[in-house]
Formats: sequence, structure tokens, C-alpha cells
Amino acid sequence: MKKETLKGSISNFKKAWFFARKQKKLLIGYSILSLSLCLISAITPMLDAKGLLYLTAGKWDPLLMIAILVFVVEVTRNTCRFFAQRCSQIFFRETLLQIQYEMAIQILRLETEEIDHHSSGTFVDRLTKDTSDIANIFTQLNYSITDILSNIGVMAAIFIINKWIFLYFLIGLIILYFMNRIKMKRYFALDKELRKINERNTGLTTELIRGIRDIKVLNAGLTFLNKVREKLSASNQERYKMSGIMRKYQWITGSFQDILTFLFIILGIYLVSIQNLTIANFVILYMYQSRVYNLLSYMTQFLEYYKNFNVSAGRVFQVLDDDFFKKESFGKTHIGKINGDFEFKNVTFSYSNGKPILKNLSFSVSANETVAFVGKSGAGKSTIFSLLTKLYPVKRGKILIDGHDINTLDKDSIRDNISIITQNPYIFNFSIRENLKIVKEDVTDEEMIEACKTACLHDFIMTLENGYDTVVGEGGLTLSGGERQRLAIARALLKKTEIILFDEATSALDNKTQNSIRKAIRNMQGEYTILMIAHRLSTVIDSDRIIVIDEGKVVDEGSHEYLLHHSNLYRDLYEQELEEAQ
Ligand code: ADP
Repeated sequence: MKKETLKGSISNFKKAWFFARKQKKLLIGYSILSLSLCLISAITPMLDAKGLLYLTAGKWDPLLMIAILVFVVEVTRNTCRFFAQRCSQIFFRETLLQIQYEMAIQILRLETEEIDHHSSGTFVDRLTKDTSDIANIFTQLNYSITDILSNIGVMAAIFIINKWIFLYFLIGLIILYFMNRIKMKRYFALDKELRKINERNTGLTTELIRGIRDIKVLNAGLTFLNKVREKLSASNQERYKMSGIMRKYQWITGSFQDILTFLFIILGIYLVSIQNLTIANFVILYMYQSRVYNLLSYMTQFLEYYKNFNVSAGRVFQVLDDDFFKKESFGKTHIGKINGDFEFKNVTFSYSNGKPILKNLSFSVSANETVAFVGKSGAGKSTIFSLLTKLYPVKRGKILIDGHDINTLDKDSIRDNISIITQNPYIFNFSIRENLKIVKEDVTDEEMIEACKTACLHDFIMTLENGYDTVVGEGGLTLSGGERQRLAIARALLKKTEIILFDEATSALDNKTQNSIRKAIRNMQGEYTILMIAHRLSTVIDSDRIIVIDEGKVVDEGSHEYLLHHSNLYRDLYEQELEEAQ
């Protein structure tokens, strides 16, 4: 084994042990039980052989004794197996839970950019499949090692019985081992590729389910199915190649073992004929024969688990460690409740594709002010909100919240003080109550009802059969766009953050609901710092100030009246809207 690979494996084992060590007692129990199992298994061929000899010689009394012994041994073996399995299953369950929980924590810490660039399958497969290989490794290796040890015991017994037969088995084993290594090398190269393909497939199938409504109405089922078929066929092809290797290998090694058995009998007959071996020992060796090949299959299993573990561990620890997938980083300064003023100072920003989106952008907002952002689509308005919530970190220029550089603030100081209501808020497949509890676990019914009343949602909830306990489907499927937005507004109101961002939040609402929301916003004006992005300028006329953004820069700012007279862009946008309304 290469030094680098060995170093990597040791590091993987250490990291995996971190999650398993709490269950160490179970592992010790399992080790003792599986070692006992192996010892018991090692004596059964001897009993079988003796029994066979007594049977052929017609010695009934000792045969009965052997039968009783075999019975006791088998009952003990079964009981040991029962408890060993119990230990290993609890060990697996607890270890898996700990790794998966940590994975979920680290996935939540991923930088938004990493999520933008990877399919959901990248993380789903690692969280659900690869973690099992890690949780399994300790019991599996333990099992293989105890089996290998006991079968080495069998080899020692063979050595004592007859050195020629031992030598014969040893040579056979070495040849089988090298045949096996070739198979493993090819198998694992394909396995690595297969996992990558599977990640993409999981991403695609997730999209198939999530986008099912659009696929149906676009009548794009066939095109999508062709895509699914193409991807699935690639992974099936890879899987077929892998099983092909196994099939071929099994055929070759199976045939080789048949030859070995045949030659063993010839050799045995010869050794008996020259009185180098007694018939009794020949029968015992014959019984042991399958154990010798088991030794090889345990060694193969050992290597398989070990390699599988390394591939899975590599993929899981890429997510858990901080250097492969970038994680969000926050400062250390904690501020409890903020006043709510903030400033963008010469902020220049581009997403990972490098295209400049915000260019030297500067503006400031005072606490409790209501400010609207207007501009053409793609001007960079939503990006401003993403930077203010630190969904993307700012590297050039500064964002100051209550005078603190956003990069020095800890996560809670930012995210507990700012809420955002987007055009398409994500509503979880929980009940309405649980969706609200996400932001405040100890929310009372009164608080919940108050927030929903302000968000003009309470009356609607009351029409539902299960009221606040109605489950809303994945992504809030069973709610209309307007209801989803109002639920998101209620969620934000419950958080009682000082800064509230509305990103086109009223765009999907009918006029009546829009008016109620506008009323709700007006009720909040003066108490909270409110930022709004709206397509319809009529919705932002009431703001204290309107900032006009164009190509990532502030081009004008002022009241509606002021901008109508002084900003060409604003006037154009306004006139365009009037035209559309006619
Ligand atoms: P607005 O809200 O003014 O319509 P946005 O801030 O949403 O504009 O987008 C500004 C530009 O940034 C657009 O050209 C958009 O394509 C691009 N953009 C938005 N989000 C991303 C992203 N996650 N990765 C790369 N480009 C993005």
C-alpha cells in the first residue's frame, strides 16, 4: 500500500472513530461475541469429521455423544450470533445517527455558492448512502478480522496434520489472492465513477419530482424522460460492468477452486497410499478445505470494506471538513438587538462567474426608515439583499450594520436581526404551525394568530379543515403563491427582526391582498427598518425614500415626486408601468 494512501486511511479511521467512540462498549461486546463465534466455528469441522468416521464404523455410542456436542455447540453459536448482531445493529444505528446529524449541520453551513454549483444529489447521496459505509466499518472489519484469525487457526491445524497439504493450500491461496487483487482494482475504479454518476442521477430524479407540475404543463414529459433514461442508462451500464467483473471473477475463481479440490483429492489419495496421511485425517482435512477458501473470501471482504470505507469516508469528510466545500464564515462580534441602520460602502461584487453585478455601490439607510429599491430586472437589487443577509460574503467594499462591519459579526447578530421575504419563499412540508415554529420554537398561539392576522393569513387558515395543523406539502405545494408569501411574512413577523426585506414580496398577490399587505407594511413603518424591491412602483410610493439602481450602481435617490422630476430612468419605469396598466 502506498504511504499516502495509508496515511489517508489512518486519518479517515481517526475521524470515523470520533463518531463511533461513544458506542465503544457495544463494539467491545460485539468483538468478544464474534471472536467466540469464530472459535466455535473452528471446532465444528472436527466434530463433523469425527461423527462421519463413527457413522461409517457403526460406533453408535460415541456418535450420540458427538450429536449432543454438535447440538450444544450449535445452540451456543446461535445465541452468540443473536447478541453479536444486536450489539452491531445498535452500534451502527447510533454511529450513523451521529455522522448524519453532523453532516446535516455542515450542509447547512455550506456557502450559498457551493449550493449554486452542485446538484442536490452531491449532498443527498453522501448524507444518505456514504455515511452508512462509515458507520458500518468498525463492525465489518471486526467481523472480518476475527474470521481471518480463526481461519488462520484452521491453517495452523492443517499444518500440524500434514505439511504437504498445508503447502498445497498455501500455494492455492496465494494464487487466488492475486487473482482477487486484479478484480478489486478494476471494481473500485468503476465504483468511484458510479458514485459520481449516481450523485447526478439523484439530483435529476429530485428535480423530476420537484418540477413535476411544470414538466406536466409544459408537456415536456417525453423530453425529460429521455434525459432520465439517458442518465440512468449510463449508471446501469457502469453497474453492469461492475457485475460483469464479479461474474467473470466468480467463474474463474470458482473453476480454479474446483481444480484445487480435485487435485487435493488426488494428493490426499496419494499421501494415504504412501502412508503419509491417515484416512481419519484425510476426512478432517477435507472438512477444513472450505475453510481455507473462506479465509480468502474474508480477506477479500476485508479489503472490500476497507476500500469502500475509504471512498465513502473521502466523500463524507469532504463535506465535514472545511477545505473542500467552502463553508460560511462569520466574525466573533455579537450584538443582541440592533438599532437597524446600515450602510453599503463602495461594495463591488460578482458571483463566481466573475461578471460584475454591483459596482462600487454606496448608500445608507437609517433605523426605522422605509426604503424602496427600483430598477430594471437584473440591475442587482436582489443581490443587495443577499449580501445584507450574508448569503454571499462581500470581499470588496464594506457593509456596516449598526456601525459594525458585517464580516466581523457572528451569524446570530446578522440572521436574527434581518428577515427576508422573497418572491418564492420556501415553505416546508410541515403543518402551518410547525412552519411558523421554525423561527420561534416557543411561539404561543396568541403570537402566531397575531402574526397571521397582520399578514392577512389568519382568515384563510381558519377555512382549512385542520386550521393551523394543516400540512402544506413539499415547498408549500397545497398553498397558492399569495398564501405562501403571506405565510413567509407571518414567519418574518414572528422573528420580530429590526430589518425586514421584501423582495418583490407582493408580486404574486391579487389587488385586494396586496392592499392588505401594504396596510400591514404601513403598520410596521417607523417601527422597523423596511427595505422593499417592487416591480410595481405604485407599491413603493409610500416609502420614505426610493433608491434607483441601474447596472449595479445607485443612479438616483429621493421621494417619488422628486424622482419623477429628476430621474430619467425612474420616470421611464413609471411611464412604462402606466402604459402597461392601460
Ligand atoms: P434584480 O433583483 O435587480 O432583478 P439580481 O440581483 O437578481 O437582479 O441579479 C443581478 C444579476 O446577477 C443578474 O444578471 C443575474 O443573472 C445574476 N445572478 C443572480 N444570482 C446569481 C447567482 N447565484 N449566480 C450567478 N449569477 C447570478
